[in-house]
Amino acid sequence: MITWQLTRDCDLACLHCCTDSAPGKALAGELTRVEALALADQIVAAQIPYVMVVGGEPTIAPHFFELAQRLADGGVLLKIETNGNRFSEAQAARLPKAAIRSVQVSIDGATQAVYARQRPGGDLGRVKKAARAVVKAGLPLEITFAPSKINIHEAEAVIDLALELGAFRFNTGRLMRLGTAAKLWDRLCPDGKEYEKFYNLLVRKENELAGRMELCFRPFSLKEELEARTTEPSGTLLVLPDGKVKVSAPLPYLCADLKTQSLRDAWAAYREAWSHPKVVAGLAAAAASEERLAEANRWVMLENDLPVVV
Ligand code: SF4
Repeated sequence: MITWQLTRDCDLACLHCCTDSAPGKALAGELTRVEALALADQIVAAQIPYVMVVGGEPTIAPHFFELAQRLADGGVLLKIETNGNRFSEAQAARLPKAAIRSVQVSIDGATQAVYARQRPGGDLGRVKKAARAVVKAGLPLEITFAPSKINIHEAEAVIDLALELGAFRFNTGRLMRLGTAAKLWDRLCPDGKEYEKFYNLLVRKENELAGRMELCFRPFSLKEELEARTTEPSGTLLVLPDGKVKVSAPLPYLCADLKTQSLRDAWAAYREAWSHPKVVAGLAAAAASEERLAEANRWVMLENDLPVVV
């Protein structure tokens, strides 16, 4: 599978963003329309079954719909992740319905005040409309919630809102210490008691809503995820907006460049990277100390250890 960050540009500047995205923060050298469509053709030719299209805000990329259509025409299933602030009924109708496995909308508050504190510039009313547009278009809806000191007290209300909006799945877990979130960690990170209450809430709601909406929150922490990855590497290639391939979001290592290498070569490099001593040590170090995660967006090419200037 592939997770494809189409752009780092975004219409919001969220405090908890794990990709350092914000308005005007497109990466230098992001793939052009022509390069992106050529990569889509390689994805189709390689018969990759599933692509998660993410950002930044992926719908900002001018070629977003053309790309989704190209992948869909080639038989690839898609998940689209959007913050929902600019996603309308017209946009939902433009998506290649048969190929859309889900559209995921982020909702980080049940009230406008809390939502906009975590997502400055965001409008909860527009996001609810976007979620309804997804369902109206007959597309499966997922909601995601990033807990923080700011919004964790509204978690139950957001779960209930997700159900009311028609979501089939609610995704959450501990806040990840990556990107902007790492810089604002003391302001954002819930304390142990808040997390314990949150986890208990998720277990209760999971039972209460069984058969109506799935709650997806395991592994609960990035630490658990990293520990699992030491014995079971991910099969999902992470493609950055400029075509570089990252071994894993919580690690700084890059293993390929799709501007100069084919997807097949990138896949081979990715497979090898998981047994590279630096990746093995990096996973263990990040699992042992989440402060290491703050370095995850300072990218380094594995083969030569040269920092990548962005
Ligand atoms: S969290 Fe999502 S919506 Fe917010 S700035 Fe990052 S990419 Fe944009």
